[in-house]
Amino acid sequence: MSTISVVVFGCAYNAKETKLKSFITAHVEQIKPMEKEASLASWDAAISGKPEDYDKVSELTLKVRQVYSNPQEFAFLKDMKESGQVENAILARQLDVLYNSYLETQIEPELLKKIVDLGTEIEKNFSTFRGTIEGKKVTDNEIKEILKTQTDSRKRSQAWLASKQVGAIVADDIIRLVKLRNQAARKLGFDNYHTLSLVTAEQDVEELDRIFDELYELTNEPFAELKADLDSILAAKYNVAVTELMPWHYHDPFFQETPMVYDLDLDVYYENKDVKELATRFYTGIGLPVESILANSDLYEREGKNPHAFCTDIDREGDVRILCNLKNNEAWMETILHELGHAVYDKYHEPQVPYLLRKPAHIFTTEAIAMFFGRLSRNPAWMQQTLELSDQQRAEIENVSDKYAQLKQLIFARWDMVMYNFEKQLYANPEQDLNSLWWQMVEKYQLVKRPQGRNEPDWAAKIHFTIAPCYYHNYMLGELLASQLHHHIVHEILKLESDENVSYIDRRELGEFLSKNVFEAGAVYHWNEMIKRATGEPLTPKYFVAQFVK
Ligand SMILES: [Zn+2]
Repeated sequence: MSTISVVVFGCAYNAKETKLKSFITAHVEQIKPMEKEASLASWDAAISGKPEDYDKVSELTLKVRQVYSNPQEFAFLKDMKESGQVENAILARQLDVLYNSYLETQIEPELLKKIVDLGTEIEKNFSTFRGTIEGKKVTDNEIKEILKTQTDSRKRSQAWLASKQVGAIVADDIIRLVKLRNQAARKLGFDNYHTLSLVTAEQDVEELDRIFDELYELTNEPFAELKADLDSILAAKYNVAVTELMPWHYHDPFFQETPMVYDLDLDVYYENKDVKELATRFYTGIGLPVESILANSDLYEREGKNPHAFCTDIDREGDVRILCNLKNNEAWMETILHELGHAVYDKYHEPQVPYLLRKPAHIFTTEAIAMFFGRLSRNPAWMQQTLELSDQQRAEIENVSDKYAQLKQLIFARWDMVMYNFEKQLYANPEQDLNSLWWQMVEKYQLVKRPQGRNEPDWAAKIHFTIAPCYYHNYMLGELLASQLHHHIVHEILKLESDENVSYIDRRELGEFLSKNVFEAGAVYHWNEMIKRATGEPLTPKYFVAQFVK
């Protein structure tokens, strides 16, 4: 029997627990086939692209939502929680998970409709609006292209300004949406929607503040140094003084990505390989075979098919699939490693874990596993062995890839701090001067200058405030955990002094460690408890900094 089944099969139940147990049994009987049907429909829609398939998804998603919006059942669960009598650990966890699922759907139907309608309206404005340069409409791709390649500062600034024009169109609506979300949250007894979202996601605002503050302190100096290097390269390229660098001198509208100055074309190493084959071989080698996942998956481009990539657990009983649009290049190598990371997490849950807990501990813990594996596509040791490169080729890659990885991670970390801190304050007080608040954050965290006299809702041009509220911090938490696991595995499991030559190839200890300590338990433990059990300490930014600040 695995360690996890000892936890799952406990002792006798008290009266409250017995009542809860039968509630859960009935609930799972009802919800399990519905969720499977919805997952299958969503898979079919992603493959076919047909509107009627997407309609079916909406219909089935709504049906699932209706189950969770039942106020009597919510009251029952609330009473259970407040009674303090549910002591059995595994029942208490299921109660937490259920309670949160019901809590977030308790918004009254009329208010919910307003929120959904306004969100859809804003999203529509985002997708139909086109910015203009000298009166001429430009697409997002054209703007991105200009910011990547144009050397004339005036043209760059025009493109950057065009990327912000949508902000003015949607800002008032976003503020209205924020207020409606806050209204819903207050009716459920929370300060604001940000707090409610974190609570239902089992995240604590003080804990997140602590992590983000520490990350801020630890990355301050190294980021300033790296950015100074970057700035001098950019200034030379655009023929301006370093002090004259403005937001439009970076290579994307928000300075969330690495400017292309250190990047290296890795595609040449992958073009004659089969990325699916390479990924399969790698996962087999670490003792986490993926053949059965790939057999159910859809991997190549087709007319009408969703052009991105994702992983889905259809039934929590082993039918795990990934969708990709593979090409033999570095980006898709990273993507298939990433999606299969999600997939092995889902695939290797212990089947005896109750249905409600047979899923990752948190959305960011599965993201962390996916990132952990995705990072390998640029890892020189992994590339050398996988792609049979010479020492010289490896040295060439190493020259650039370390610098690139540092810059990429630090730029993203500082950008995520802007998003996390701004969003928290946006919901705390949507009446404040948000335009100024945004630039204060950008100046503080990204060290990018506010254009003189600029007073526009530049923040509102970020679509995530509308479509994925209070979520962005999870990307950063995923990176932190990926590094924490990496550090622990290198030093404690593989017993190595440093991670310099670590490729993880054929290291079955890796698969075994992840299965036993992360995958099997699913959501049996709260995410931070799982991390503590796996690595000996709760989530910390220390190891991310150790890995990417050299
Ligand atoms: Zn992912």
